[in-house]
Amino acid sequence: MTKLRTLKVALLGCGNVGAQVARILIDDADMLASRAGARLELAGIAVRNLDAPREVELPRGLFTTDAETLIKDADLVIELMGGIEPARTLILTAMQNGACVVTGNKALVAKDGPTLHEEADKAGVQLSYEAAVAGAIPILRPIRDSLSGDRITRVLGIVNGTTNFILDQMDSTGAQFSDALAEAQRLGYAEADPTADVEGYDAASKAAILASLSFHTRFSLDDVYCEGISNVTAADIAAAKDAGFVIKLLAIAEKLGAEGTRTGTETGTETGANGATGVSVRVHPTLLPREHPLAAVRGAFNAVFIEAENAGELMFYGQGAGGKPTASAVMGDLVSAARSIVLGGPGRAETTTGQVTALPVTAAVTSYYIGLDVADQPGVLARIAQLFAEHGVSIEIMRQTIHRDADSKVESAELRIVTHRASEAALAATVEAVKGLDVINSVTSVLRVEGV
Ligand code: NAP
Repeated sequence: MTKLRTLKVALLGCGNVGAQVARILIDDADMLASRAGARLELAGIAVRNLDAPREVELPRGLFTTDAETLIKDADLVIELMGGIEPARTLILTAMQNGACVVTGNKALVAKDGPTLHEEADKAGVQLSYEAAVAGAIPILRPIRDSLSGDRITRVLGIVNGTTNFILDQMDSTGAQFSDALAEAQRLGYAEADPTADVEGYDAASKAAILASLSFHTRFSLDDVYCEGISNVTAADIAAAKDAGFVIKLLAIAEKLGAEGTRTGTETGTETGANGATGVSVRVHPTLLPREHPLAAVRGAFNAVFIEAENAGELMFYGQGAGGKPTASAVMGDLVSAARSIVLGGPGRAETTTGQVTALPVTAAVTSYYIGLDVADQPGVLARIAQLFAEHGVSIEIMRQTIHRDADSKVESAELRIVTHRASEAALAATVEAVKGLDVINSVTSVLRVEGV
């Protein structure tokens, strides 16, 4: 049997994910060698604190605080430190030195992906980051490779487990946002500072990456409209449930005004507001019909739903975070990068020939759910319906609920409206006009709806 060559692997970071990657590299060395066609030798692990406890028992001699020296003669570098610097500089230096890089750093890829890709292309090395979106779920490689002969028209993703857990808790127990968040923190699904998750920033990074690969155009975080879930109330969830919907935080990337409209998918592509053409990338709480495949994604799980012209609808589901699941995605990238070295060709990680325009959120066209606290007077429904019609927003469902006190006196009247697809601009103008009606006490919620 021919002796396999050895490739040196430098691991940067030994936290939740890094420790599991180190374990797999050591415990599964023979399996990895047979798959990669080379032995993958863990040359060292860079950390901040040499004495910090580790989740996995690892030889002390592997650890160093000198990441710059560690990457110098590595063939493969795995970056699992997180943050922008020094991760960015170390990745760029490693690629300039000729190493292939695997990272799980969504924040860095979303912020500075173009620079990283340019350097990878210049150096002729592979840069991969499957772990950066939806943890264990193989989603970037299917988009990049398996669907490279098709046209993706829309991507809808539940890509943040923390917010899905919180919304699922609110849906199943009737809890308020703050109580569901506290429960998520108690169970370790949410960080002490949950801002990046609940305000949608983490999902926005992933949306930028998904859009870039799906539409062969580089999108950055600045191209993503972002709205989190902290304003979603128990009343919103209850009203949605009552109307047959579930509320999910979705990362959406969809093509508007494509040349080949309505081919192969249920919804096809349509022109954006005012004829805008391009790609709308956004993250916001969204009502989905309870029978939509994404509505069944419970707890902290992730899923990505793709519509493509020829493939039709596809769904990818699994664990979106956690040391072991995320390490699985890292190892897949590592074996692929090692194979590329063995076979002598990096292969391009992404193509940017699409060059489609990133559209502002005002160009998005979707359905809406609107909750109104109204006066219980004759003719109210007709006045509201007429106002919607005047603004070109047509109503699909209108439902009124009257709340009475113990003496059967009307306490309040609640009106719930689901519209047909309309532009953000038309909807905003309608809501402003509705607020001006004397029969309206307040607009209790405005949420977008997909999948109808
Ligand atoms: P983590 O538990 O915080 O671990 C970070 C590791 O990096 C620690 O070992 C830390 O060293 C080391 N480190 C940080 N700054 C460093 C520096 N300046 N120099 C040397 N070492 C440094 O992070 P994680 O949860 O494993 O996540 C790693 C990456 O994977 C992040 O980019 C994250 O977004 C991504 N990711 C994570 C998950 C997940 O489920 N956790 C899922 C998908 C993607 P010390 O231990 O000495 O402090």
